[in-house]
Amino acid sequence: QKTPVTLLGLGAMGTALARTWLAAGHPLTVWNRTPARAAALVDEGARAAADVAEAVAASTLVVVCLLDDASVGEALADVDLTGKDLVNLTTTTPAQARDRAAWARERGARYLDGGIMAVPPMIGVPEAGGYVFYSGSRELFELHQETLAVPAGTVHVGEDAGFAALHDVALLSAMYGMFAGVAHAFALIRKEDIDPVSFAPLLSGWISAMAGPAVQQTARQLKSGDYTTDVVSNLAMQVAGTPTFLTTAEQQGVSPELINPYFELMRRRLAEGSGEEDLTGVVDLLLR
Ligand code: NDP
Repeated sequence: QKTPVTLLGLGAMGTALARTWLAAGHPLTVWNRTPARAAALVDEGARAAADVAEAVAASTLVVVCLLDDASVGEALADVDLTGKDLVNLTTTTPAQARDRAAWARERGARYLDGGIMAVPPMIGVPEAGGYVFYSGSRELFELHQETLAVPAGTVHVGEDAGFAALHDVALLSAMYGMFAGVAHAFALIRKEDIDPVSFAPLLSGWISAMAGPAVQQTARQLKSGDYTTDVVSNLAMQVAGTPTFLTTAEQQGVSPELINPYFELMRRRLAEGSGEEDLTGVVDLLLR
C-alpha cells in the first residue's frame, strides 16, 4: 500500500498537490478551513476530515500548504503533533522556517520545510520542470522522498530548515530582477513602431543566452575570490557604457528607476579600483 498522506490546505496549490497523490493511489485525508473546498476531492477519492485534529491523526505524514506562516501556527495551535512527520510547503522566510522547525520539535514532530518552485498547473506534470526545495533532516527527507516526488521533483538543499525558503526566495528574487529588465526593455520600444510580439523572441533569447554563463561565472568567482574578468567586457568598460543606456532611456521617455540602481553599484565598485573585474563585486557591495 502507498504511504497515507494528510494534506492541510486546499487552496490552488494544495488542491493541485492533492490530485497527484490521489491519482498515484495514496490514501489521502484532507482538511481545509473552508470545508466546501474539499468536496471535489472527496468525489475523486479523498477523505475529508471533520477538523484539523482528525486530519492530523489520520496519517503519520502531514503535508501543510497554507497561505503563510501565521496561518500554519493558527491552524495547528491546539493539535497533537506527537510522532508526526510534518512537511511544511507553505512559503515563509528562512527564519520562520527555522522557528517552525523548533516549534514542531517541541511538539514531538519531525519537520521538513519546503519551497515550491512551480505554479499549480505544473504540479503533477513532470515535463513542466517544477520542483520543490526541501530542507531539514536528510534522513527524514529520504524516508518520504518517494511520496514527496509524486507532485513535483524534489531537491534537498541542506539540514538547516531555513535553506529551502532561502533557496526559494533567492531564485524568485533573481526572477524579479529579470522581470525588471524585461519591463525596462519593453518600455524602451513601447512608443515606437516595433511589434512587441516580434521583439519578444529576441529579448527572451538574449536573456537565456546571457543568464547561464553569467550565473556560472559569478559562482566560480565568488568561490575562488578572484573576480578578475577573462572576457573583454570588464567593469571599467561596462561603466563607460552606462551613459548610452541612460541617455537612450531619457530620449525614449523611459524612467531609469529600474536600471540605475544597478548602474550605481557598478560605479561604486569601479570607484574602489575594481575596473579589471567582472560584475561579481556588486554581490559584496550588497552585503550589510
Ligand atoms: P490560496 O490563496 O489559493 O490558498 C490559501 C490556503 O490557505 C487556503 O486553503 C486557505 O483556506 C488557507 N488559509 C489561509 N489562512 C488560513 C488560516 N488562518 N487558517 C487556516 N487556513 C488558512 O494559496 P495557494 O494554494 O496558491 O498557496 C498556498 C501556499 O503555496 C502559499 O504559501 C504559496 O506561497 C505557496 N505557493 C503557491 C504558488 C502558486 O502559484 N499558487 C507557487 C508556489 C508556492 P480557505 O480556503 O479557508 O481560505
